[in-house]
Amino acid sequence: MLSLGLLMACNAAQTQTTDSIATPNDTNTVASAEAIPLFVQCLMEAYPEHIIGYADNLVYWSDSTTMIYDDGKEKTIVEMMDNADIEDMSHWVYPDEVTAFNDAGRIRCEAFFKKMYGETQQQMSRNLTTITWCPSLVGQRLNISKVNNINRQLQQVSAALDSHPEWKAFLSGPSTVNWRVVAGTNRLSPHSYGITIDMGVKQSNYWKWDNPKASETDSIGYRNRFPSGIADIFEQYGFIWGGRWYHYDNMHFEYRPEVLLYKQRMKKHRS
Ligand SMILES: [Zn+2]
Repeated sequence: MLSLGLLMACNAAQTQTTDSIATPNDTNTVASAEAIPLFVQCLMEAYPEHIIGYADNLVYWSDSTTMIYDDGKEKTIVEMMDNADIEDMSHWVYPDEVTAFNDAGRIRCEAFFKKMYGETQQQMSRNLTTITWCPSLVGQRLNISKVNNINRQLQQVSAALDSHPEWKAFLSGPSTVNWRVVAGTNRLSPHSYGITIDMGVKQSNYWKWDNPKASETDSIGYRNRFPSGIADIFEQYGFIWGGRWYHYDNMHFEYRPEVLLYKQRMKKHRS
């Protein structure tokens, strides 16, 4: 069992905003880059077919609707998890090493993901297609969303992993779509949207299995058996890994390119 030490330094992720506000004249015109919070810039780059602009605390969608960026409420971590606005999703920066209480990507604005992937199970299901997962090592058909070309991204992950027979146990037993709430909460699981894959469950550690009595705010240790090379491949194609969360979920990979872009941009900003 590999046990990694935790970096105890906390990082306070700051969104970069200015006082100037640009107003879009039409849906094809966006505010100047300086006026757009860094995290919204990442959303626009990650989801160009959906997110096209920002002005006056509103995120502009390509169908001409808007969503509030920052609801202005002070929230605890648990309150953010239960009721996130778009800005809350930038609370943490995705770390290189597991860092105390950093769960970058675990705070999700439900309205945002439902709008992109399906408001209901029926709508979400219409956006699904199938791929064959690791044809030579596993060969299992999987449902996955076509939205944002996630199916193509996952197909590329699969092709890259399929040349690693030494990882077969971690790639086995995959599951993807499951419309459900997270146990003990009212939040929809990201598995509801068809943007995730769980795999290698038998090789996986999960914070709740290891700490059945711990709450979100309790200190816990870290456990993991997954090779980091697997995560590196997923991250190349826009998927984050639950094994980088303080509340680790090592079997879990999720299509969240904005989280990875935000990490890159924050690094540039600091250097
Ligand atoms: Zn999962």
